[in-house]
Amino acid sequence: MLTAFWIIAVLIGVLALAYVNVSGRAWGAGVAGALLVSWVLHALPLALNVLLTVVFIVLAIPLAIPTLRRKLISDGVLTAYRRLMPPMSQTEREAIEAGTVWWDGDLFSGRPDWNKLLETPPPSLTPEEQRFLDEETATLCEMTSDWETTNVYKDLPPHVWQYIKDKGFFGMIIPKEYGGLGFSAWAHSQVITKLSTRSGTVAVTVMVPNSLGPGELLRHYGTDEQKRYYLPRLARGIEIPCFALTNPNAGSDAAAIPDYAYVRWGEHEGKRVLGLSVTWDKRYITLGPVATLLGLAFRVYDPDKFLGGREDLGITCALIPTSHPGVQIGRRHMPLNTVFQNGPNWGRDVFIPMDWVIGGQPMIGRGWRMLMECLAAGRGISLPSSNTGMSMLAVRAVGGYARVRTQFKTAIGKFEGVEEALARMGGNLYMMDATRMLTASAVDLGEKPAVASAIAKYHITERARRTINDGMDVTGGKGICMGPSNFLGGAYMQHPVAITVEGANILTRSLIIFGQGAIRCHPFLLKEINATRERDRDAASIAFDAALIGHARFTLSNLARTFVTGTTGSHFVRIPDDVAPETRRYYQQLTRFSAALAFLADVSMGTLGGALKRKEKLSARLGDILSLLYLCSATLKRYEAEGRHAADAPLMHWAIWDAMFKAQSAFEGVISNFPNRLIATVVRRIIFPLGRPYVVPSDAIGHQVASLLIAPSATRDRLTAAMHIGQSDDDPVGLIERALAATVVAEPIEHKLRAAIRQRHVDGRLPPGAGVEVLAERGVAAGVIDAEEAHALIAQRDLVEQVIRVDDFDRDLGASLLLPAIEALHRQSLSTKPRAPAEPRLPAGVV
Ligand SMILES: Cc1cc2nc3c(=O)[nH]c(=O)nc-3n(C[C@H](O)[C@H](O)[C@H](O)COP(=O)(O)OP(=O)(O)OC[C@H]3O[C@@H](n4cnc5c(N)ncnc54)[C@H](O)[C@@H]3O)c2cc1C
Repeated sequence: MLTAFWIIAVLIGVLALAYVNVSGRAWGAGVAGALLVSWVLHALPLALNVLLTVVFIVLAIPLAIPTLRRKLISDGVLTAYRRLMPPMSQTEREAIEAGTVWWDGDLFSGRPDWNKLLETPPPSLTPEEQRFLDEETATLCEMTSDWETTNVYKDLPPHVWQYIKDKGFFGMIIPKEYGGLGFSAWAHSQVITKLSTRSGTVAVTVMVPNSLGPGELLRHYGTDEQKRYYLPRLARGIEIPCFALTNPNAGSDAAAIPDYAYVRWGEHEGKRVLGLSVTWDKRYITLGPVATLLGLAFRVYDPDKFLGGREDLGITCALIPTSHPGVQIGRRHMPLNTVFQNGPNWGRDVFIPMDWVIGGQPMIGRGWRMLMECLAAGRGISLPSSNTGMSMLAVRAVGGYARVRTQFKTAIGKFEGVEEALARMGGNLYMMDATRMLTASAVDLGEKPAVASAIAKYHITERARRTINDGMDVTGGKGICMGPSNFLGGAYMQHPVAITVEGANILTRSLIIFGQGAIRCHPFLLKEINATRERDRDAASIAFDAALIGHARFTLSNLARTFVTGTTGSHFVRIPDDVAPETRRYYQQLTRFSAALAFLADVSMGTLGGALKRKEKLSARLGDILSLLYLCSATLKRYEAEGRHAADAPLMHWAIWDAMFKAQSAFEGVISNFPNRLIATVVRRIIFPLGRPYVVPSDAIGHQVASLLIAPSATRDRLTAAMHIGQSDDDPVGLIERALAATVVAEPIEHKLRAAIRQRHVDGRLPPGAGVEVLAERGVAAGVIDAEEAHALIAQRDLVEQVIRVDDFDRDLGASLLLPAIEALHRQSLSTKPRAPAEPRLPAGVV
């Protein structure tokens, strides 16, 4: 009995010490205390007491004496670690080290400091930024017709281009001292979001010069002279920039670009100068066909050692005026049916002076790091904003449409099947926008949140894909038939672009989020990796030992926390007192999942080592867990920041339940596919000791969310706050808004009439072709409704007729008019021009 008590007490003690992650000394004292108790009370047989005491002394002495510990334990692990770790290329290292760790680090720690999140100031606009959003941005939206842009001009019309340039849209991120608008990341995001609710082409056109490209690169790395010359010209739209990285042979693996330059002496403006002879072949370059300034990435070689160092100097970025002799640019791709300017460019042995390198000669070879640093911030703004915008359009317009479109004498939005799609749309949008806000706040706080921005890019674009697809299903044929009155088909066609650019999504999920997240967010992993690279043996041993001990305690602590929070349903997890009561359990559950993620990540890395990098399915699921924790915390932050509106709560609840269920499935996905079955079984018992607690969001919550989308309300307005609603009479979204308002007024009148028909006060049998006018007239005659109500019914019917109308065209869709042009286009696409060789002709000795 005593033995059993002692064992239970020891187990509880071990869990408690591990849970709070006590120091090594406290561990020693704890184990010594337990042994003392056993000796004094004879809790264990004498032989066992002796054995345990000897084991304790044998282990404790080397653990307590650092030099001994290093010799006996850490140095051996370091050697094994060096063998296990896959080699890391310079570009991989630069990608991993780019940017900063922020809230993502907390989520990976197993102990997120919720106060840190809640105290992050919510994003806000200055009066000037707000005015720009309300006036210039709204005007630009109003000036742009996606149908006309896509089908008539195949480009933005000239007056829209001019307005964009004149009002400084291309210089939103350029500081005021250089003539730009100097906007915050949040203001930039708000502008892109709003434009995206109107037209993908205008949004992409404005977005690109403000994201990763010449403006951003110059701002951070340009020489003073380059900044002084180019930034004011870019801000005023005198220069149209593009940035060309992608080569036909290097898309996702962009660091492998074969575009090259040799350091050479050459002629420039009549002088002999040292420069670069560049050969490149790029494709898919946005704004390329109209660009005046080409930002170009290529690898520099210096076989003649003009710069005195290595031959292969690495990836370099330069700015080349597109009018420069040898630059071939101007042709276009057709990215689906979206007509933003995008195309290839190439050149062969084009000589440029050294001072065209961004940052000048000292920045030769620093291009990859520059790109990764800028991407760490920019990726969190551009596509998250445009995709949230497209989803806002889908949610607002489709929600309204689902109320005014009736089938089986019922608004389609009230059928359970449609409700399910609407609930997904609303819940996902709430979470997407929350994620956009949190990530923009981080950038405005000066962070370059590499992992969080990859999470935002991947998850917002994927949820946008789902939201737009759901919207298309709900609108039926109306969404499919293109024409000026189709409000969603454009977003549907444009959307795959977002999936592919700035890190194609499969790659981002499988390789980047966890790959980079684990190394950057883990408190000890990067320290261990850095120690393996340390050349000084002693320094490596000391650094590795410190990291290893910290790592061991970290893993043990997360194991204990995972198990304890799992067995207690995380009810005892301490969280800030002042969070909304309806969200308390979410904070507790997220803390539990954070500990479980940290524990599972350590087990995965510990057992699979470098092989985890190739096990992309496992790595992707671990990344999903980290991402879903980020998305959930963004959602809770939004709910608090917006004032805990009870009416918005269903959106928040749906989003969190959905994400927690998905996170739980991701845990299960990792565990059930873990190569070592024994470890998998143990890990499952630790993470889910009482089974899996999360289920999908309830139908009741789904019903509440769907109901919020199909009726005008403050919640619907908050959910789509950045939305532009067209003002013209025939604007399809404006029309839905008016029809929705009219429907809300008409529905009770219609109910009165129907009741009167059932009670035979009004004759409901209508002659063929007769409509609501006849019924309304009979209702007025019977005194069931008044003339004003009759008018409201007819007005609503007229508006709904306009909403459900789809466009039709001549039988040949105008082909006979366009045929000569189409044939010419076909001929053009066949006449490919000779390009530069894809592979560089490497100098001798360079492989
Ligand atoms: C409309 C448009 C605009 C663009 N604008 C620009 C621009 O302005 N400047 C510029 O430089 N580039 C631009 N790009 C290029 C864009 O960044 C690339 O298309 C992107 O990097 C993917 O390359 P890829 O298309 O060659 O696909 P691939 O690299 O061939 O990839 C195909 C698929 O394989 C997946 N994949 C590849 N490797 C892995 C892996 N290790 N693990 C898992 N999955 C993997 C990818 O996720 C993708 O799904 C643009 C592209 C498009 C379509």
